[in-house]
Amino acid sequence: MSTPENSSEIFIDNYGRRMNYLRLAVTDRCNLRCRYCMPEEGVPHVPKENLLSWEENLRLSGIMINHGVTKIRITGGEPFVRKGLTGFLEQLKARYPDLNIGITTNAVLLERHLERLKSAGITSLNISLDSLSPEGFYTITRRDNFHDTWDAIQQAINMGFDIKINMVIQAGLNDHEILDFADLTETLPINVRYIEPMPFSGDLYEDHQSFSFKEIKKELAKKYVLIPDGTAKSGVANQFKIEGHPGKIGIINAYSRTFCATCSRMRVSALGQMRTCLYGENVLDLRELFRCGSPDSVIADAIQKVLNQRFKDGFEAENHRKEKQFESMSAIGG
Ligand code: SAM
Ligand code: SF4
Repeated sequence: MSTPENSSEIFIDNYGRRMNYLRLAVTDRCNLRCRYCMPEEGVPHVPKENLLSWEENLRLSGIMINHGVTKIRITGGEPFVRKGLTGFLEQLKARYPDLNIGITTNAVLLERHLERLKSAGITSLNISLDSLSPEGFYTITRRDNFHDTWDAIQQAINMGFDIKINMVIQAGLNDHEILDFADLTETLPINVRYIEPMPFSGDLYEDHQSFSFKEIKKELAKKYVLIPDGTAKSGVANQFKIEGHPGKIGIINAYSRTFCATCSRMRVSALGQMRTCLYGENVLDLRELFRCGSPDSVIADAIQKVLNQRFKDGFEAENHRKEKQFESMSAIGG
């Protein structure tokens, strides 16, 4: 991957934060209905032609990489429900071999894709799993796919993928499983990450059930001494080790928003809408720019322009929202 030599070409925001991370949603559709992410009936789907095509996603990735992006995380909706994802990843990796590509998935459809992902050079997978029992899985996701996800996790570990398990903690639903998930790190070389729930359910903000990182830590402390892991590349998670465990623990203060000062993330939805903060609103219609024939330089300038107006943190971004109800995370690209 060629890095821009002229530093003025690198995307930097108005607070001097170097924007090197893109979260790219490739679909708004999903095969699960997680309670914290969307209502039971799902969210209204957009026609396929309104999604950025794979070619547009490749072009967008290229523009981002030419301006300093070194990591692209594929998300959604559920990325594997969109046909052609694996082919897109193969093309992306072949074109930009040094690009760090991650995928966030519920893993229901993952197992059949693992061989090709491995051959393409994808090494890291973030898998969402909120319960270790089929019943708990059903209660949270409203679908009966626990074994599909669990089998894919086992297989991915056996194949040597670097696995992070993301668990969103919901009071009364799965907080009693916090220690069970930590126990997994005793035998498995995985990173279990506890995520504070955020108000992105596509439902009313008032319904938001918080469970703070302090409460998560308190629960873990009932059984384990958490050792801060200075060696971990931190990202947004506070990383810990447990003596003698090959796996690791992370806590993501997603609602408390303690990591904004170093946030390097841009998000693009499946519809090509860019936002510069998860708690903010869409700030740029990239699909429109692509489809009216804009050259890469114009698109890059438009991206830099919205980065010049970034909010300091997620609280400021939230305060400036015109629409107070948050969308489903599946529409934003989690
Ligand atoms: N379908 C894929 C999955 O579930 O991994 C990718 C998309 S999902 C929107 C991305 C991440 O957002 C998942 O880890 C999910 O748990 C998280 N998420 C969704 N809604 C959330 C919420 N309200 N609060 C916290 N995390 C949320
Ligand atoms: Fe689907 Fe992921 Fe949202 Fe669950 S969190 S409903 S798996 S998009």
